[in-house]
Amino acid sequence: WHLAQALPFVNDGKIVKWFGTNTDIDEQKQLQRQKDDFLGIASHELKTPVTSIKAYAQVLGAMLTREGETKKAEMVARMDAQVNRLTNLIGDLLDVTKINSGRLQFNKVWFDFNQAVKETMDDLQHTTKKHKLVADFTETGHIYSDKDRISQVITNLITNAIKYSPHTDQIIISTRLKNNEAIACVQDFGIGIPDNKKDRVFEQFYRVSGDKQHTFPGLGLGLYISSEIIKREGGRMWVNSVEGKGSTFCFALPVEGNEQ
Ligand code: ADP
Repeated sequence: WHLAQALPFVNDGKIVKWFGTNTDIDEQKQLQRQKDDFLGIASHELKTPVTSIKAYAQVLGAMLTREGETKKAEMVARMDAQVNRLTNLIGDLLDVTKINSGRLQFNKVWFDFNQAVKETMDDLQHTTKKHKLVADFTETGHIYSDKDRISQVITNLITNAIKYSPHTDQIIISTRLKNNEAIACVQDFGIGIPDNKKDRVFEQFYRVSGDKQHTFPGLGLGLYISSEIIKREGGRMWVNSVEGKGSTFCFALPVEGNEQ
């Protein structure tokens, strides 16, 4: 729509409706698109060298371990862990550009929801010695969804629970079936979120600011990506939290009919 084509609806000399857009919005949209394009290209270009560094680090680590050079192998393992962090950050940036341009794709299959949650939990338990991931499952059956994307959401919630509970060690992961929805919750006993910030944590780039939070690294993208994934899979995501006591992040996905 251009202004020249736009026709105002006039009633008693007052404009009651106006079809069209104004130039400011066009410019804003164009700027946003340029930002998204840049982010997409930059993260894509970063991915290639990082993948290659990872491959070399793994080969080097294996060589050093074989040669009995445990100290050096340990240093390479730390490099590898940092490369993994970089890979995850780049992955998040790529996902955001995909979400914002409507290109996030889903590869749906039938899978056992509890089993997927358990697998993700077990993988993450290996990454932390301090925190205990406790399962409190009830039978949920199978769901039709993108298993990798759902694992990504659970990973995000559990890594946040670990990150934001530096002084407590228990994290409870529960599942249940209610009103035709498979529900998973991740509960921590960490720093919690102030009441007036709770709704904003799902926004893109939003991070709670304050003394307690400023030491935690992050881009403020994980919850945005997670909630968009769940939304696009027909579900919903929410949080209950008490500042200083802990948070419980949950998501619910529809359990559709009978298994095909
Ligand atoms: P990031 O952790 O990279 O900042 P997220 O999108 O995952 O990004 O989270 C957004 C913000 O929500 C965080 O910066 C933090 O302030 C808050 N937050 C998320 N998870 C928790 C949690 N389990 N406990 C307390 N605060 C949390």
